Amino acid sequence: MNISTQRVAIVTGASRGIGAAIAARLARDNHAVVVNYAGNATAAEKVVHEIEAGGGRAIAVQADVADPAAVARLFAATEAAFGGIDVLINNAGILMLSPLQNSSDDLFDRQIAVNLKGTFNTLREAATRLRDGGRIINLSSSLVGTKLETYGVYAATKAAVETLTAILSKELRGRKITVNAVAPGPTSTELFLNGKSDELVARLAKMNPLERLGTPEDIAAAVAFLVGPDGAWVNGQVLRANGGMI
Ligand code: NDP
Repeated sequence: MNISTQRVAIVTGASRGIGAAIAARLARDNHAVVVNYAGNATAAEKVVHEIEAGGGRAIAVQADVADPAAVARLFAATEAAFGGIDVLINNAGILMLSPLQNSSDDLFDRQIAVNLKGTFNTLREAATRLRDGGRIINLSSSLVGTKLETYGVYAATKAAVETLTAILSKELRGRKITVNAVAPGPTSTELFLNGKSDELVARLAKMNPLERLGTPEDIAAAVAFLVGPDGAWVNGQVLRANGGMI
């Protein structure tokens, strides 16, 4: 760990699942990490302690990404703790399944609020507050490609996130900041597993030719590539990390 060369990363929704794996991976790759969470302080503190036990630096910061004022506080807390921000990982997200004809206003509004408005809120802050040479990664979903039944509103929020990704990459011209998206396929987290039968999980795991679910660490590795020096020439793109499902 070399603090003089350490970069500073905010990972939204890093208390569990893919976000927790990204936070751990970026800490190993010499980043000071802000572990953002919505409500699960105990889980977020556990991620922080594991990073510190490995010799890294991290803090947990509560903020609902759907709330612009909370997002501004998240960025201010990061600057106060670590002196600046180089990397934003927009990972916080929720999934609510339903055929369109049965989808409630609440299902629509909540997924738009967290997945789309939440990403917008953090991107808007990052556009003015990230240091030159920074990196932004938005979590999309391979469902934008597979377009499976019952995922309509969720997939639509992620399609919008992919569009924001490409446009912001152009708007940041001259700042040496890249903006990309990583689009996982089925990955073994609570978001994916909740409410699904073992049979359905097994069927979805076989949709890719490697015939397994992704792990949070698989996705963290794809994110780490784009954040690290080897990913420097990739900009405005969507990297589907799904074992070849689509
Ligand atoms: P999990 O449900 O396992 O974890 C979600 C994380 O997001 C938690 O840390 C949670 O915090 C946080 N969170 C939820 N709502 C908010 C909010 N409003 N503000 C701040 N944080 C919030 O999800 P995954 O790890 O599976 O998903 C991570 C990302 O990857 C999501 O964007 C998801 O859409 C995407 N993705 C996941 C796939 C999968 O198969 N798992 C496939 C494709 C994409 P807390 O613990 O406090 O509730």
